[in-house]
Amino acid sequence: MATEQIENVDQGEVAKFNALASRWWDPEGDFRPLHEINPLRLDWIRQHADIGGKQVVDIGCGGGILAESMSVAGASVKGIDLADKPLAVAKLHQKESGVEVDYEQISAEALADARPGEFDVVTCLEMLEHVPDPAETIRACTALVKPGGHVFFSTINRNPKSFLFAIVGAEYVLRLLPKGTHEYEKFIRPSELDEWSRAAGLELKDSIGLHYNPITKDYTLGKGLDVNYMMYYQRPAESTP
Ligand code: SAH
Repeated sequence: MATEQIENVDQGEVAKFNALASRWWDPEGDFRPLHEINPLRLDWIRQHADIGGKQVVDIGCGGGILAESMSVAGASVKGIDLADKPLAVAKLHQKESGVEVDYEQISAEALADARPGEFDVVTCLEMLEHVPDPAETIRACTALVKPGGHVFFSTINRNPKSFLFAIVGAEYVLRLLPKGTHEYEKFIRPSELDEWSRAAGLELKDSIGLHYNPITKDYTLGKGLDVNYMMYYQRPAESTP
């Protein structure tokens, strides 16, 4: 029997995203940063993995900003999340947009048990810093991807600069995100993410920082993983599911 204690989910986090769900697709609203970074991260994913015609699963898809964009780019996309309200918003939005995504309320771990090694590409963006045991989520992402397939993670580094930029700056000064969106203790150093990913059997291929310029209000990708960053992994072709 799955209970809150043994499942890799923080119900407080899920409640937080449920409460914000109706604003998911407002480009000027609480999720504005996700709308603004989406073209950049989609481009970066496509630079590394040809997603056209591929089976992609988006873990912690929320209202479906990335999931829909990957579908528009030609992928066959499944989006999963444990919060029911963002998923309801995602399903409503796809009725308006006509973009095909197969949404399901299921954990990464349960999907990995049911469909191991079935996906060409796994994306898990801005989600690991909301789960109690990110290493377990990373193991599930690894189990979901085919040998030779591609896995993308993004999260927020943990250091004094990221505290200043991602919490004080983003939530309190610039008000880019609602207060309480992120908890500093849950931020993840690239070295930690890499250790968990290597232990799961993934090979690091590339990483990149995501930077916000408060003057120009622009996001750019570039060197420096000190605040927001993305990591790209491959599952070795010869690995067994
Ligand atoms: N990946 C999306 C949404 C990020 S917001 C994007 O980058 O655009 C974080 C999402 O993670 C929320 O939708 C939240 O409901 C989800 N989440 C939090 N804990 C989760 C868990 N244990 N399993 C699955 N999804 C979870």
